[in-house]
Amino acid sequence: MAPADGRPAYPALALFVAGQWLADAGGGRRVVLDPATEGVLGELPLADIAHVLAAAESAGRGFAVWRGHSALQRCTVLRRAAALMRERAAAMAAVLTMEQGKPAAEAQREVMLSADIIDFQAEEARRLYGHSVPPRVEGILSHQVNRHPVGPVAALTAWNFPVNLPARKLGAALAAGCSVVLKPAEETPASAMALVQCLLDAGLPPEVIQLVCGEPAPLSEALIAHPAIAKVSLTGSVAVGRRLAGLCARQGKRFSGELGGHAPVVVCEDADLDFVLALSVPAKFRNAGQVCASPIRFFVPRARHEAFVERFAAAARALRLGPGNDAATQMGPLTHARRLQDMADFIEDARAHGVRVVAGGRRDERPGYFFEPTVLADAPPASRVMRLEPFGPIAVINPYDTLDEAIAAANALPYGLGAYAFTRDLATAHRLGESLQVGMVGINHYGVSQPELPFGGIKASGEGVEMGAEGLLAYTEVRTLTVGRHG
Ligand code: NAD
Repeated sequence: MAPADGRPAYPALALFVAGQWLADAGGGRRVVLDPATEGVLGELPLADIAHVLAAAESAGRGFAVWRGHSALQRCTVLRRAAALMRERAAAMAAVLTMEQGKPAAEAQREVMLSADIIDFQAEEARRLYGHSVPPRVEGILSHQVNRHPVGPVAALTAWNFPVNLPARKLGAALAAGCSVVLKPAEETPASAMALVQCLLDAGLPPEVIQLVCGEPAPLSEALIAHPAIAKVSLTGSVAVGRRLAGLCARQGKRFSGELGGHAPVVVCEDADLDFVLALSVPAKFRNAGQVCASPIRFFVPRARHEAFVERFAAAARALRLGPGNDAATQMGPLTHARRLQDMADFIEDARAHGVRVVAGGRRDERPGYFFEPTVLADAPPASRVMRLEPFGPIAVINPYDTLDEAIAAANALPYGLGAYAFTRDLATAHRLGESLQVGMVGINHYGVSQPELPFGGIKASGEGVEMGAEGLLAYTEVRTLTVGRHG
């Protein structure tokens, strides 16, 4: 039943296998909860192994169909899907907020940006150029170097951007000519369903896309082992990334991983603190900090540290916490109960290490998974929050004495996804850009995630990139064709 306020109803949940929406897929059911109320939204059918294998087989058949479509045909279908997403953005965003918790405006931006990502990859499909190489001997007519789709892809995604993360994978994989078995997070399946429906309504042949959910470990093992699957692409934690990379290595399959991060922010001596704070506070608490490239460790010159901490903390305390469907809400709940416990563990460990809890640090006592926007200061390297990704609304602000020291602290962790810095000096900007060991550096802004730019981590934060022209190449393989004269 639709809620009385006119919002759309949470949909009946189903999986999509071999061209059919299935309300039962043999693996039992799991409830999906509203993180703002802890109420039950719906029941998700889970796939048993037989259905997982059926999905892989169907993707194999779908690949044979889809690779036969021209680049322009693939582009046309994907652009139509992007247009449908824009048309349905309000309804898709409402469902996204129900199951994930983020404020409605953030959800709406997520859907619109996801449409832009699909559009960009659709257009790139038309420019999937190879090249020709001059032959070195007589009698050879051409050497061609061409790009072909890798084959059916298993795509696994996290719950923090339930439309955007699948859209990154689907846009590029489908544009390249691959078929996909999508396994979204079980916490946020309806957002992925809505995205798949846009693709189907746009004319994607049904067997090209599958949507399965289930017990993640056995499901992914069966999927990766299936001979039809050529590549695995994960967005998730470092731990699961290592596990899936290992499975792929043993099976000789391609793996790419967009994994966790622990982004440092180096505030330089010459930075304007008003400007830094105006950008940093919303960036930190966007999506309740559940963002892989979220700014986490702020390094501030010692003389300005206390002022920065106080002002950051005051801005954090002023944020309005609430359900995502309330227009006044600036930060929604965490997406599931495990994150709340994780936040409590980070704070307990911080206190044990003598870290100052300057703002927040507690669960907000009401139904739902609300945790206060939290600001910590003076955290030693041994504290948990300085070593592990909090993936929640926690900022840590430490002082530094020299820029060398700040750079060394920024690079101290195995993570290497995003990093940020604020300076007016061009030479310092370039120095930071070169010395911060991450896949993406943002100087004087936080907008590293754009459809046109490659997005990805180095070190433990991942393998490969998504988005940008490079994101499409990740779903292709290079093949050489050389043709000689006959006789
Ligand atoms: P997760 O690794 O637990 O889950 C990610 C996906 O893997 C989900 O589909 C999940 O069901 C599946 N999964 C979980 N356990 C599995 C297992 N044992 N075997 C196979 N699959 C399994 O991650 P999460 O907690 O859902 O998401 C948060 C993490 O994702 C954070 O570390 C965050 O930084 C990262 N992330 C990275 C990016 C990026 O682009 N780099 C973007 C968003 C999130």
